[in-house]
Amino acid sequence: MNKLKKRFRFLAVDLAFATVFTLCAILCVLAYLYQSDTQIRQQSTIQLSIAEHEAAYISHDLGLTLQNIDTNLRAALNASAHKPIQTDTLRNALNNAPYLNSISLLGPQGKIIASTKAANIGHTLDISAYPVYPQSTGDLLRIGPTHRGHDLADGVPLTDNARNTPEQGFIPIIHTHLSEANEQENSLIATIDLGYLLSRIASVPNTSVTRIAVLRSDGLRLFDTMPTDAGLLMFERDTVERWQKGDSIGAKELLAIDSRHWIVAYRLHPQLPIGVVLVVDRDNLLKDAILKIQRNNMTIMLLMIVGMTCVLFSYLFFRHANRHQRNRVARIEAQRSLLESSLNACTNAIVITKPDGLIEWSNPAFSVLTGYTVAEASGQYPGTLCKSGEQSSAFYAHMWQTIRAGRVWRGELVNRRKDGSLYDEMLTIAPALDSEGTIQHFIATKEDFTQQKAARKELEIAHSHLNSVVENFPGSLIMEDIEGRIVLLNQCVFELLGLPGTEEYVLGKPIHPLMVFSSHVAENSQAFLDRVEELRTAAHPSYGEEIHFKDGRWIERDFIPIHLHENLIGFLYIYRDISQRKRHARELWQLATSDPLTGIPNRRAFFENIERERARLTRYPGEAGVLMIDIDHFKQINDTHGHAAGDAVLCHIVRQSRKLLRESDMLARLGGEEFAVLLPQANDEGALGLAERIRKVLEDTPLIYNDIPIYVTASVGVTIMSHTDPNTDKTLSRADHALYEAKRKGRNRVEIG
Ligand code: GH3
Ligand code: MG
Ligand code: MG
Repeated sequence: MNKLKKRFRFLAVDLAFATVFTLCAILCVLAYLYQSDTQIRQQSTIQLSIAEHEAAYISHDLGLTLQNIDTNLRAALNASAHKPIQTDTLRNALNNAPYLNSISLLGPQGKIIASTKAANIGHTLDISAYPVYPQSTGDLLRIGPTHRGHDLADGVPLTDNARNTPEQGFIPIIHTHLSEANEQENSLIATIDLGYLLSRIASVPNTSVTRIAVLRSDGLRLFDTMPTDAGLLMFERDTVERWQKGDSIGAKELLAIDSRHWIVAYRLHPQLPIGVVLVVDRDNLLKDAILKIQRNNMTIMLLMIVGMTCVLFSYLFFRHANRHQRNRVARIEAQRSLLESSLNACTNAIVITKPDGLIEWSNPAFSVLTGYTVAEASGQYPGTLCKSGEQSSAFYAHMWQTIRAGRVWRGELVNRRKDGSLYDEMLTIAPALDSEGTIQHFIATKEDFTQQKAARKELEIAHSHLNSVVENFPGSLIMEDIEGRIVLLNQCVFELLGLPGTEEYVLGKPIHPLMVFSSHVAENSQAFLDRVEELRTAAHPSYGEEIHFKDGRWIERDFIPIHLHENLIGFLYIYRDISQRKRHARELWQLATSDPLTGIPNRRAFFENIERERARLTRYPGEAGVLMIDIDHFKQINDTHGHAAGDAVLCHIVRQSRKLLRESDMLARLGGEEFAVLLPQANDEGALGLAERIRKVLEDTPLIYNDIPIYVTASVGVTIMSHTDPNTDKTLSRADHALYEAKRKGRNRVEIG
């Protein structure tokens, strides 16, 4: 919702800016157009004024010429008051005005009496139609219409007021002297050359003047530099009306049929009956100025566009920067809020203090731990709130020294809750530094350590018990963790293996070197290591594995994988020296399975052996020979030579028989003077042959006892044991029976059964 609001706010600002920007752009365009228009208008006004001045100038200039002519004519007429006008007088006057074609004297009826051009004499001119302009001297001035021709003699007056400008021609200027009775006397007529007048007005400096018309004050066109058109004619008529109303000078703009703009200026001469109408091509005249204005304004426009673009980009930049900044602030705020939430959710008490220790912020866990609310804690010193007095001032001094040096302090202390109860606290204080390394805050993390401390004590006790057990354990204990590091090792290990007390074989170190050392002590090093690896891989308990050491000792190993909550956490090896036990067992076995008199296996060992052989034959079918030997009349030997001699005879029989046996054959004393021989892999022939050889050697070899030879014979019952025998009793019964047969048949013989 908040985000949506923000977005709308941004959109509104953007819209406002876009509106203002567009308005500014429109205003710029309007200002540009207005400025251009105003400047063009100003230029136009200036040009109107210039045109007006030019019209006045031309009018004045023409006026000077006409006044000069008039003055000359008047001077000539004045001279005639004393003396009738002669052609010479006229010629003198003409000399003063070289731009005149001729000067002629008119008689009262308009007949030319004298002239500077002889051709004119006698020519009659009707000047009565010419308007009369009284002069200040009392004389009259007439200006005739423009004539085509060279002079009065061949001159033809032009009647069409709208005609084109004649290239050749003249204008008659007539000065009439009035008598005192105001009667008309002589008149002088001068013809002024149109070419001259045209050359006069052609000297107008304004090159844009396209047309100059010279009119008589009654509207008669005297001459013109260009053909005229209907529009101008109308303007001229209008101008003449203005003149007649007294508006002698002015200028205005006209729009021609071809959409061109013209500046038209007019000037009626203040003293003479002539006026000038000037036409200027405004478009041409202002072309350069307009171009310049447009260029200047375009430059301004460009600058405005650049300015507007700068404004736009500035806005976009600041908008982007502002948004970036806002986003950054929002991110930082979100991060800060998250951090605060995290700190608030933290089960450990957290206190943030100023560098002087004054509490600035604390989380709810602090209130739970100490009993002080966040508001109560704020602005207080932790020492004031929680100090128990259990720690010395040196303790606190060291703490402050550490954290003021910018290092983290961690330690246990006893603090007091709001209700006065004491508790153990695990306190960590970390300084928070700014970018210049100055401490800005301290962040203290407090943990109620009471239970942990008690638990730790219990653990320490349990650990010391365990240590005692381990050290007093009657065997070597080695335990490795799942990563192969030694986690338990008692002194016995060093004694059992002859392990040097180096740093290599301590808790936390890898167990591998210890195993390698152990393998070198073992008889078969590689087998030892392979088996350890096998046990580790299988991770199944293995008890009582016996290992023979190179020094002859027998070591028993228990291998126990250790699990914690069903997770394998390591392996325990227990090594015990069982050499003595092995020795005792061997001796007991010896005792249990051998005959003490002769040292050969006894009845029990024989029966175990024959059972084993029978089992082997069952698995690998074959045969084995069994001999039952009984000494003949042994009672008599005892009786004759004594019991000791009888014992010696028993040993003699064993010695003699053994000489004839293979390594794998087994001679056993079944009891008294009865012996048995087990011959693995022997058939009846082999068994009978051996039985016979034994009988023979006993018969042939007397025992020399106390220098007395004692002869002894034996009866032998032979049988062959095969896999078909259901049990050994059956086999032995057959051998017994054969022995019985040998006895019955006279003794010292061999029988097979
Ligand atoms: P037969 O030819 O029928 O076998 O006559 P025998 O005398 O050998 O048989 P008998 O079973 O009657 O006598 C065995 C004698 O062996 C009896 C006993 O005194 C003697 N004897 C048994 N064990 C020992 C012993 O360990 N040492 C001595 N010296 N004599 C023994
Ligand atoms: Mg016997
Ligand atoms: Mg006997």
